[in-house]
Amino acid sequence: MASKKERKQEAKERRAFFKKICKEHYTVIVPDMLPIHFDLIRSILAKKGLNYVVVPPMGREAKDEGLRTVQNDACYPAIITTGQFVAELKSGKYDLNKTAVIMSQTGGGCRASNYISLIRKAFEKEFPTVPVLSLNFSGLEKMFSLPLNLREMYQMIHAVMYGDMLMNLYDQSIPYHDEKEVNAALNHCMDELKKKIGHHCFYRRKANYKMMLDAFKDLKPNLEKRKPRVGIVGEIYVKYSAYANNNLADFLVKQGCEVVYPSLAEFCLYCIYNNINDYNQYGQGKATVGAFKIAYKIFLKATRTQAKAMKNSGFLPYEDFEHVVEEGKKVINTGVKMGEGWLIPAEMVAFVEGDTKNIVVVQPFGCLPNHIVGKGMIRPVKALVPEANIIPLDFDASSTQVNQENRLKLMLANLRREMEEK
Ligand code: SF4
Repeated sequence: MASKKERKQEAKERRAFFKKICKEHYTVIVPDMLPIHFDLIRSILAKKGLNYVVVPPMGREAKDEGLRTVQNDACYPAIITTGQFVAELKSGKYDLNKTAVIMSQTGGGCRASNYISLIRKAFEKEFPTVPVLSLNFSGLEKMFSLPLNLREMYQMIHAVMYGDMLMNLYDQSIPYHDEKEVNAALNHCMDELKKKIGHHCFYRRKANYKMMLDAFKDLKPNLEKRKPRVGIVGEIYVKYSAYANNNLADFLVKQGCEVVYPSLAEFCLYCIYNNINDYNQYGQGKATVGAFKIAYKIFLKATRTQAKAMKNSGFLPYEDFEHVVEEGKKVINTGVKMGEGWLIPAEMVAFVEGDTKNIVVVQPFGCLPNHIVGKGMIRPVKALVPEANIIPLDFDASSTQVNQENRLKLMLANLRREMEEK
């Protein structure tokens, strides 16, 4: 463990490093994942004086660059996020002496804590001047971890909540309405929220939820002719990133389904819950458990305020987190936390016990933890709810979209047959 003097020195060097990159107006490249959430988070971070750019949609080049620069037994998300950075830096759009990339680190036991080393290795020869920054809340990568103050963290919680609500409204509107109208409502909300960042009104959640519900009030789903709802669960990056999952949500909507995603807040609560659970079960993390308990209360309350706002609006809110935990306990112990751990089976049970009987479980290549808690848990979930229609879907950097669509068509055929029988 570093001495007090060493820690002070580290903090000083880190401040000097971030001061330098802010002063020189570096551009920071952010990987794609959740376009709505990341755009809001990007706008919050931009107030620190850096220009953040989310990787734009790409063709095969990111997958090819990933396969070239990362050893091929790494998991699929590690390969394509690294490949996206390499392809973007090669595009010629950036001054390589004033560009950095940023990657999140979970701090868990899985590779998600180590993508940064893979990215640095990939940059070693081609982009030695490009620093790899870290966004984490676990005290990792001290020198390169983005310093965030309490106000910025609080703003990020709001960005997560607003992003979740907009994603939910969008997913429930798009199967029933004109794409242009849905996008116009979404863009209006994003513009309003971005204008508010840095002002007190950004924190007025109820008023902002109302603004969003008003924008979508003419874009409600058709409750009498509701399309079959298909839940998407699995590894977080492949689940949300349209690039990583070959536009899975668009494909399902075009096939006449309504896509249902779990919220990002649910994943944040899962991470916080695990830290509290570690303390309760093993006495681990005594110094930080108090902060995690406070964060848990803030997040949970925020999700419940949002659900209340959505009730009676014609749109369905996300499942309550504590309900998801209880549903999960029917099939798995909440001590299982490698990768997405108990959360994947818990989300599956919450979906099939509710009104989302069809589920796609996305499985990235090279991801052992999520094969166990994803594909491996389908049988116990189906034993609990036999009418559940669940398929695992594998993704890797060399698989084709056609293969995946053929697998999905099998699930859709089951779904249509059941609807006809009803
Ligand atoms: S959970 Fe799977 S996909 Fe995510 S970092 Fe770990 S091995 Fe990779």
